[in-house]
Amino acid sequence: MALGSFGMAQSVKGTRDLLGNEMKWFQRIEDTARRIFHRHGYEEIRTPILEEIDVFKRSVGESSDIVNKEMYDFVDKGGRHVVMRPENTAGVVRAMIQHKLLATSDPRLLYYIGPQFRYERMQAGRYRQFWQIGAESFGVATPESEAESLVMLFDFLNELGLRHLKLSINSVGTPESRPAFQAAFRAFFEARQEAFCGDCHRRIAQNPLRVLDCKVPGCQTALEGHPRITDHLDEASRAHHARLKVLLEALGVPYEENPRLVRGLDYYTRTAFEVLSADLGAQSALLGGGRYDGLVSHLDGPPTPAFGWAIGLDRLASLMQQLHGDAPAPRPALLIPLGEAAALEAMALARKWWAEGCAVQVDTRGQGLKKALQTANRLGFARALILGDGEREQGVVAVKDLAAGTQETWPLDQVAQRLSTV
Ligand code: AMP
Repeated sequence: MALGSFGMAQSVKGTRDLLGNEMKWFQRIEDTARRIFHRHGYEEIRTPILEEIDVFKRSVGESSDIVNKEMYDFVDKGGRHVVMRPENTAGVVRAMIQHKLLATSDPRLLYYIGPQFRYERMQAGRYRQFWQIGAESFGVATPESEAESLVMLFDFLNELGLRHLKLSINSVGTPESRPAFQAAFRAFFEARQEAFCGDCHRRIAQNPLRVLDCKVPGCQTALEGHPRITDHLDEASRAHHARLKVLLEALGVPYEENPRLVRGLDYYTRTAFEVLSADLGAQSALLGGGRYDGLVSHLDGPPTPAFGWAIGLDRLASLMQQLHGDAPAPRPALLIPLGEAAALEAMALARKWWAEGCAVQVDTRGQGLKKALQTANRLGFARALILGDGEREQGVVAVKDLAAGTQETWPLDQVAQRLSTV
């Protein structure tokens, strides 16, 4: 496409092409996620990127930054007000309700992997198109279902080689039990209100829990000794929280309690959690999640307990790069035929080896041995398999180990078993 005086086209600000090493880490992470989640019985769901704006207004909440400032929303040609989804839970819940998958009380275990869009201020590691992997479990209200999801999450993160992880948990109770905490917390706030920022003064009226996770250092200091939600729970929520801790201990998932960890909206219930990674720097959250028993009915579905989490794939991939360097990307073997007849035979042989699961590429440029070996070296192949007339007559290939510079001869019928399979 000619771009005339506009010059070379660039990707839109805040978006980027995934390629090379970053793409390889994305693939490795996605493959690992799918493998581990399938073991646990989770099924993949893909919801549309476009949703009606109400889906997010009603779930993420009209007062949130995501809905207020960061949505990629527009009116389409048919006059519908739509949004490029800023997160995936709302879409998953919308789909579950629409397809009546929550009509029975059977558990539903789902995961998603996909791009999300937020019109964010640009800063390191934050993009306007980014990716999330998330898991949602519907229909089970027990602490056991939370432990199951958290074990799956930790198996996933451990499989990626992440070790210095900390699970931080809290309980935010239920809408019924929250007023008792809020009364105690308001009294605490009023006794030292000068110390809190203007936003917190607004929050104490509208959404008091959010005062607890205000990022302003002065507010965090002023919160010293604040009443804890966990000291004001109803009996069932208290038992739920205690049981989750027993399960996590027994299953070897180390955790700590963070009484300031909250979720701001009414449909969040009981367990809220974050996973912190020491590798990301002090107190950096890798992901968050929790129980949202009120959301399905809030979106007009049947009352359904639910628990879930979402992790940023971009951040995970950059963490993998930081910890492990470049993604392992072996180029196992380049098959180099010498001459036309050998080229045809090479294609037929490669086809047989591919069918057996071997990883091999064919040099189709017909460029002669010297140049082909230079290409193989430049592209980082482990081996070159050379098929000239002499080799064809004897039914062998000459195999050059490109790192060691050594050469040996393999009979054609042994190649498949000696090449690495993928
Ligand atoms: P949230 O949906 O805001 O709870 O975010 C969940 C995860 O998504 C975070 O832990 C981040 O890693 C990731 N995330 C959120 N927003 C962005 C963004 N703009 N760019 C990259 N990753 C993001």
